[in-house]
Amino acid sequence: MPELPEVETVRRGLNDLVLNKQISSVDVYYDKMIIGDVQKFKDTLAGKVIETVDRRGKYLLLRFSGDVTVISHLRMEGKYYVKSKDEPLDKHTHVVFNFVDGTTLRYNDTRKFGRMELVKTGMEVNNSGIKKLGPEPTVDTFKVDDFYQALQKKKKVIKTALLDQTIVTGLGNIYVDEVLWMSKIHPQTPAKNLSYDEAKKLHDNIIKELNMAIEAGGTTIRSYTDAFRNEGGFQFSLKVYQKTGEPCQRCQTPIERIVVGQRGTHFCPKCQILKP
Ligand SMILES: [Zn+2]
Repeated sequence: MPELPEVETVRRGLNDLVLNKQISSVDVYYDKMIIGDVQKFKDTLAGKVIETVDRRGKYLLLRFSGDVTVISHLRMEGKYYVKSKDEPLDKHTHVVFNFVDGTTLRYNDTRKFGRMELVKTGMEVNNSGIKKLGPEPTVDTFKVDDFYQALQKKKKVIKTALLDQTIVTGLGNIYVDEVLWMSKIHPQTPAKNLSYDEAKKLHDNIIKELNMAIEAGGTTIRSYTDAFRNEGGFQFSLKVYQKTGEPCQRCQTPIERIVVGQRGTHFCPKCQILKP
């Protein structure tokens, strides 16, 4: 599943490839992919120009002329490709934005879980998924004091609390395991038991890790590829995720795998002690 660094990589790719292109028409081959009226989706976008592509959490926000935004969530396997209109359609292509210049932006999704929704620009904040998102993991928006206070109010263990996106957005299963290892925090530690110093260390590592992953173009596990079909390079920097049995890079203890909140979880049993 693409996490924030992968979605950010897609956003940057789209900004390089489709900016200022004008849509001639839109083809939808799987109606359920569009939330709301499919005909209205097609009719509204015809003639519009892509002005920029933004992102909030793992939601891509394709901004069009006329104050129109398409909220696009890739879910498990969604991918965008830019191709000439003459290239044959892949059987997993479900939405095609045709541009007047003869190129197309194609949305592929082998599992069909991705969704697109057309809204008036600015109204994306009312989207049920976007509405509950915590701050973006940047120095400007993500503050230690707020983070610590939010953890104090959580009844969940830290791994689950970080995955729910309300305290800080953008951490999925891979990066949660990584930042907890970096911060020497056991994934089953109750969130409210973290000290201020632990919360600060975790906060700093979340910003550092996600930015490093973005710079590396994301992580390729299974099928993720960005809009250029390049593979992300961050899988080579992972310390614990899917490293079960391999030595911890700090203390050489074999990495263990447990299940936390139904998610496979990797940690070092020596560096990340569960305090009583
Ligand atoms: Zn260790």
